[in-house]
Amino acid sequence: MSLTGIKPTGEPHLGNYIGAIRPALELTATYESIYFIADYHALTSIRDRAQFATYTRSVAATWITLGLDPEQTIFYKQSDVPEIFELTWILSCVTGKGLMNRAHAYKAARDRNAESGAADLDAGVNMGLFNYPILMAVDILIMGSDVVPVGQDQVQHVEYAADIAGSFNHLFGSEYSLKIPTALIPAGTGARTMPGTDGRKMSKSYGNTIPLFAPPSRLRKLVRGIVSDSTPVEEPKDPDSSAAFQIYENFATPDDVKDMRVRLEQGGTGWGELKNALYETLEAWLTPLRARYDELVAPGSELDAILAAGAEKARDRARPVLAGARRAIGVDS
Ligand code: ATP
Repeated sequence: MSLTGIKPTGEPHLGNYIGAIRPALELTATYESIYFIADYHALTSIRDRAQFATYTRSVAATWITLGLDPEQTIFYKQSDVPEIFELTWILSCVTGKGLMNRAHAYKAARDRNAESGAADLDAGVNMGLFNYPILMAVDILIMGSDVVPVGQDQVQHVEYAADIAGSFNHLFGSEYSLKIPTALIPAGTGARTMPGTDGRKMSKSYGNTIPLFAPPSRLRKLVRGIVSDSTPVEEPKDPDSSAAFQIYENFATPDDVKDMRVRLEQGGTGWGELKNALYETLEAWLTPLRARYDELVAPGSELDAILAAGAEKARDRARPVLAGARRAIGVDS
């Protein structure tokens, strides 16, 4: 079984689709797959109540719109599975603080403080950020995951989950033990990152994203605003230097991409024309999807029932794992 966690920290964008959503959904062909919205992970940074709810809903609606089938998989919100949080405490008690000191996100926060000359290297670090590798370990272990598809930068988390399960099994696991997971790095991960409207990696932190379900007028404006050089229309252009072309490559048919490449390289085709083609391509793909997304994201939609049913299925898997851990530590004897 393969587990994918989705952190709802913003409006999903085209880069998320190509780099994360599409490859994760493709895994259903090979593995029994479980997906969850890691909303309590997002709480380490989100401080706005309305935003918290909106992001969770929009991320859930996005994944279903793009092909996640809640009948064929288990799809739930982390915060709907209380068993996770009890097991998090149990596993916190068998995890060395040193391991957490070495976690990437915590170390990165301290490095940022050191660079800015802060006297306290832990300034701005909450205990959620410090402990979240344990919560993530539990997300993985409580579902009995075999593999966790991750990018290279996330491998440490799966290794931590394996380490923490190993400690627990060593200390308490004579009759009951946690399944040790492994990281799965999907082929091609990290090979290409999609650029954003300013040419840098498309990323919410840079404010250069093209949101997946932006209304047509906003989509058109964003596509037109993609940075391009000032080569005149009639002159030959280098498509590979163009952010718009790199985005186009991911969404147009291979024939259309080839055709556009030739036209740009020959000269006589301007960046404006490429952007129009990109907009038309995105719009054709997104029009039916946007309607489905709008339906799902609306308050009171079927999304609530989908997530509630998913939570029940997830809890059915989580309960025996927690019960086993409780018995193993002796709290139930
Ligand atoms: P933030 O700026 O908050 O870090 P982000 O916009 O960079 O956010 P994440 O939420 O960090 O996006 O990314 C979620 C997933 O989407 C990751 O697995 C990442 O690999 C993928 N992803 C994000 N941006 C891109 C991109 N520009 N190209 C390809 N994949 C991307």
